[in-house]
Amino acid sequence: MTLFPEHIAACPDCDLMQRIPALSSGETARCLRCGRSMAAGKTDPLNRTFAFAVAAAIVLIIANVTPLMGLSAVGRHASTTILGGVLKMWQEGQGITAALVAFCTVVAPTIYITFMLTILIALRKDPAPSWIGRLLRISDVSRTWSMVEVMMLGILVALVKIADLATVIPGIGMFAVFALILLVAAMTVSFDPREVWLRIRWADEAAPPVGEERSLRPGDDRAMPAEERSAARLGFVLCGACGLLSKYADPAEPGYCPRCGKALEVRRRQTIQRTWALLIAAAICYIPANLMPVMNTTMPAYAEKDTIMNGVILLYTSGSWPLALIVLIASVIIPLAKIVTLAYLLVTIQFRQPESQRERIRIYRFVEIIGRWSMLDVFVVTFVVALVQLQPLMSVEPGAGVIFFAAVVVLTMFAAEQFDPRLIWDSPGEKENDHD
Ligand SMILES: [Zn+2]
Ligand SMILES: [Zn+2]
Repeated sequence: MTLFPEHIAACPDCDLMQRIPALSSGETARCLRCGRSMAAGKTDPLNRTFAFAVAAAIVLIIANVTPLMGLSAVGRHASTTILGGVLKMWQEGQGITAALVAFCTVVAPTIYITFMLTILIALRKDPAPSWIGRLLRISDVSRTWSMVEVMMLGILVALVKIADLATVIPGIGMFAVFALILLVAAMTVSFDPREVWLRIRWADEAAPPVGEERSLRPGDDRAMPAEERSAARLGFVLCGACGLLSKYADPAEPGYCPRCGKALEVRRRQTIQRTWALLIAAAICYIPANLMPVMNTTMPAYAEKDTIMNGVILLYTSGSWPLALIVLIASVIIPLAKIVTLAYLLVTIQFRQPESQRERIRIYRFVEIIGRWSMLDVFVVTFVVALVQLQPLMSVEPGAGVIFFAAVVVLTMFAAEQFDPRLIWDSPGEKENDHD
């Protein structure tokens, strides 16, 4: 077990420079100002994560080749795998939605698990090759977009929706998906990216050798009091990829991170304009997403076009009000709350409002965490459509609203990623008076 010695770090959410003490296993260091988790002491992070990753890789294969669930009605049987659902959406003319579902449920988890395996194997070389850093960056992004747990909830909602029409039998794939969720969570919890960055060969070989960033350069360490100071003000910039603090000469052109080679930014460039653009696009798509049908059901006696709200009412009247509530929150309330919240944050920053920074950072984090769950209804539609294909008796097709709905989710996720929370603390009242 590596015990990281005390070192100086900057908070990614508020840019405060502070001392991170040596942490033993199970301890977490939180930012003095905004409460963000800065570092955590972990036991044997590389070997443990490797064990979980091997298990996750096996389960991932099972989850993708075995049927998720089967359905039988009037002597007919149908079953679907994850990719079967994707293929059906594709055939129904929903190519973009199909690609998005495939990405979030199969491609992103596969990238995450295989890249983590590769990283953990390649790390055994000393010093570890610098391409590991690039893999780690990609695996980090793919973890954000891997939505296996949201898909699982979507499958459950789909099952309840179909249960009225036919008998549904859960398949092996569903248990594998459940195991996959637990293993991916275990990988994330046991892993410590700092261990990787510590072992990596630096992109700029002339920069301090591996290991020196543990305590920064001795002179810098003494020059920096642990009081409330933002890194930018002290002439430091935090690498968004590997967390290394570098000194910059020119805030407009801070150059490249000597360790991972990524372009450095004191604050994300044009973050306000880009976040606004994504939010406005999301708000526009939110209207057709809610007005247009997401699912069209055809039966001999009648045809029905259901919007998201109709789907919620249908779930409620069929007796499963908890699921109705979940779908209502995930599909209608969360996307709207995300748009409104991010707009509020942007306005307070643009008007340089110095108050309630802690509250604002909290709602930003909340929005960032819950955002992915609004993908729920896209998965529900995918699996209902994939299963209920009992022509001429009954069939379900995706409606035109699905694509707008998926667009809202993706655009708001991009907006939350694009937003730079450090701007909340940059307003004029920042310096002394908000510290409690
Ligand atoms: Zn902070
Ligand atoms: Zn870096």
